[in-house]
Amino acid sequence: MAPLISEAKILEIKDAAPIAEVIGQYVRLTPRGRYLVGLCPFHAEKTPSFTVYPERQIFHCFGCGAGGNVFSFLMQHLRLTFPEAVAELAQRFGIALNWQKDLGPGPARLSRQRQTWFEVNEMAAAFFAQTLAHPQQGKIAREYLAQRGLPEAVAKTYRLGYAPDDWRLLVRTLSERGANLEAALQLGLLVQNNSGGNYDRFRGRLMFPIFDLQGRVIAFGGRIIGAGEPKYLNSPESGLYTKGRHLYGLYQAKDAIRQQNLAIVVEGYMDLLALRARGIGPVVATLGTALTREQLRLLKGYTSRVVLVFDADAAGLKAMQRSLPLFSGERLPARVLTLPAGEDPDTYAARYGVAIFQDPWDQAQPLFEFILDQAMVGAADSLEGKLSAFNTLKPYLQDDVDPVEKNLWLQLAAKRLGVPESVLAASCQAARPTPLLTRPAQDDSFNLEKRFIKLLLTYPEVLAKFDLAAYLDQFRNPEMQTIARCIHACYQQVGYLDHSLLVMQIEEEDLCRRICSLALAAENYRLENLEAELADYTRSFEKIRLKRDYQHLRQKMEQAYKNGKGGEVLALQAELQNLRQRLKELASAH
Ligand SMILES: [Zn+2]
Repeated sequence: MAPLISEAKILEIKDAAPIAEVIGQYVRLTPRGRYLVGLCPFHAEKTPSFTVYPERQIFHCFGCGAGGNVFSFLMQHLRLTFPEAVAELAQRFGIALNWQKDLGPGPARLSRQRQTWFEVNEMAAAFFAQTLAHPQQGKIAREYLAQRGLPEAVAKTYRLGYAPDDWRLLVRTLSERGANLEAALQLGLLVQNNSGGNYDRFRGRLMFPIFDLQGRVIAFGGRIIGAGEPKYLNSPESGLYTKGRHLYGLYQAKDAIRQQNLAIVVEGYMDLLALRARGIGPVVATLGTALTREQLRLLKGYTSRVVLVFDADAAGLKAMQRSLPLFSGERLPARVLTLPAGEDPDTYAARYGVAIFQDPWDQAQPLFEFILDQAMVGAADSLEGKLSAFNTLKPYLQDDVDPVEKNLWLQLAAKRLGVPESVLAASCQAARPTPLLTRPAQDDSFNLEKRFIKLLLTYPEVLAKFDLAAYLDQFRNPEMQTIARCIHACYQQVGYLDHSLLVMQIEEEDLCRRICSLALAAENYRLENLEAELADYTRSFEKIRLKRDYQHLRQKMEQAYKNGKGGEVLALQAELQNLRQRLKELASAH
């Protein structure tokens, strides 16, 4: 991460935006000593190893190595650029930011590009909403909403709109309002025809803006009103929108999901709105694709219970089957709520009400059991049937899932198939080679350097007592040396070690992570006597240096001996003797 923005500004924003508070909005954190821990949003885990260190304003995951400061968290989690993360926090915590002055030209350009996209999407959303409210133009869409039982308040919450059945209305409106049409093309709101003119992509459709977690419009979905194909049309992928990375309605539902520790996942926009219209809060929709790992990770930040609402058809079953390995891989418990054949949440809610969705966790079936049930359908008591059921299940039992969970699955499957568990287990045993962990051998100096850097990061107050500059050239490990140099530069610059700033000044992401991991790793230092500890390091560095010199001199002497330079040999011998003496002194001082 390069320093693209004035450091004074960064420090001001960082100081105003407590990392625990910011991350706490996306990850459920619990205090543990001086730290806060939670389930990592960047990898799958069951026990929390994601650690936030408020004192140092950094975070680190002991599981996957992710780490950084409050800005890098937002960049990684919300997929923001650095300037966006800065702007987001500045805005959230009331710090004035002057884009021209505070930002370099490169990032300003990229930010402006994204800014333009957001502006154009916003204009389009406003236009669609206006049209929906228009007495004549929006009549057909309002009638449709009324007929589907969707109250105006829900339409407002989700900022629904209407794209009239016209080829050029949006083009005209955007031009009149001074929008950047090139951006509208890039976003897929407009399409270019053969003669170079533009026309509206969405026509005669009820419009669903898709929001990011900050409530900005990143794309649209459109449902045809009346006859026409396709029934649903989504924005193409763009600089703001990638398929499978977002969940429809998460922005509006995230608080409810967190409060109830529950997310209900439905397939379509109308399913979601039908439930929401009847007072069911924690609902998200998949935007027409099978659930992805990234979507589960989004949910994981808010809940540990997911209920999938199942449309009882072949496509629905396939979607559930496909999602099982993802859920178990992410260690996110999921259950399936099965609706009667032919019903979707929308039709079901209209006919029977929403009682079943009020506490769906208890009514739903664990995902694996559901898949087992489905596999057993038709298996009856025939051997062939059971074999085919087993073959359907086998991939799940071989998957790389939590061993406890897998064991439970095996027990269940064995019982249903009437086969001893051990036989099933043996049959599922995948011949998978275990990866060999080969670590390069680290020498003494590397361990010393690492431990020393760790001391500096954990107890930066020692920097006041230690002349780090004098030792910078002595580091042998390039990584540790770079970190030492950066620590030194940062200390010189602001007069103390600011971890968050340090992380920002380091370009290489791996090194950032390294720093966060070292700053959080436990190590026993003699705190009551830091001076002695430091003296030890000074001695150790000295010792390593002397040993190196010693080796060097010996080689030189051997060379001189081979070349028959007697005088030189004698001189070198004296020097070597000298070195041996100093090494001895160092050892006895220990
Ligand atoms: Zn992690």
